[in-house]
Amino acid sequence: MDLRLNNLSTNHPEQIKQVKMVILGSGPAGLSAALYAARANLEPIVLTGMELGGQVSLTNTIENYPGFPEGVGGQELVDLFQKQAEKFGAHIEYDTATEVDLSERPFWIKTYNAEYRAETLVIATGAQATHLDVPGETELTGRGVSYCATCDGWFFKDKDVVVVGGGDSALEESLFLTRYAKSITLIHRRDSLRAGVILQQRALNHPKLKFIWDSVITEIVGEEAVRQVKIMNLKTKEMNELATDGVFIFIGHIPSTQIFAGSLELDEHGYIKTDHRRTTNVPGVYVAGEAGDPDFRQVVTSAGMGAAAAMQAIRFLEKNEESQPVSVKS
Ligand code: NAP
Repeated sequence: MDLRLNNLSTNHPEQIKQVKMVILGSGPAGLSAALYAARANLEPIVLTGMELGGQVSLTNTIENYPGFPEGVGGQELVDLFQKQAEKFGAHIEYDTATEVDLSERPFWIKTYNAEYRAETLVIATGAQATHLDVPGETELTGRGVSYCATCDGWFFKDKDVVVVGGGDSALEESLFLTRYAKSITLIHRRDSLRAGVILQQRALNHPKLKFIWDSVITEIVGEEAVRQVKIMNLKTKEMNELATDGVFIFIGHIPSTQIFAGSLELDEHGYIKTDHRRTTNVPGVYVAGEAGDPDFRQVVTSAGMGAAAAMQAIRFLEKNEESQPVSVKS
């Protein structure tokens, strides 16, 4: 008798859906994994999470995804990914995993509406950029507020922008923005940068980059688009206003991996530990996209990882097809 199921589940065992593959997340990684798994006749279940498409669906235009020389809307690209995966038999469920048990196969996944027993699991839950949580930020996201210079930098050609943060991301992205923007003002809450020395030297010496130290943005102001930011000096408490066309925020990312703590090996920032084959420490569980990628965070790289994760899961199933469910170590 499965005591763990008796203890944790609310459904009868016959209501638990037995499937070959569950994919958690519906961004480029999840939907690419779904396409590959569906084409292998696995009829994967994609649990969308809170937002079909993830971060991409919030992006206005994507100009660096190959095959779209004129660019493509974030939502439009997600729709195309979904259509293609469904065409081959992927099932998209508007649901979110709330609990998992990966200590034995098939893996147990509980959602708001259902329970699954999955022979393989692809985790593509993504990451979320940390927000400043100041007035105007949410309202103006996509209209001047951005969390991705690679995605949105081009829209700020010959404009003035501010960047928030003092780490590697803030400096690297600021330097990227120098290709387009007329000026970049980096606002940092301390008087020294966290970023590595070489990046610091390049940034501090760049003629387009200015710095405002010991300061935080308290409000982002604009109607149709960002117009100015209100800034407070943390040492003097002095308030200032700065006219700007854009606000790029790089104060860290939080991978959406909380429900795997205790089941999978995570690094010190919460990213799922993986390798180039997208494996985790649990055989049969794979990770794709930003849940295991602190480095690239691009639609094209996440989609590639999704395909790779699904291919590995397919190979795993082929090897284990005849075997009985096995206990695995977390
Ligand atoms: P990070 O190193 O954690 O830096 C975040 C920055 O944002 C810090 O300067 C921090 O200030 C600031 N910050 C945090 N919360 C804030 C808030 N509420 N308001 C204002 N400022 C705030 O994050 P990251 O730059 O994204 O880097 C994450 C990891 O990836 C790091 O290990 C980094 O080395 C690595 N990374 C490496 C590269 C590379 O090697 N090329 C590129 C990108 C990222 P404080 O400094 O005061 O804490």
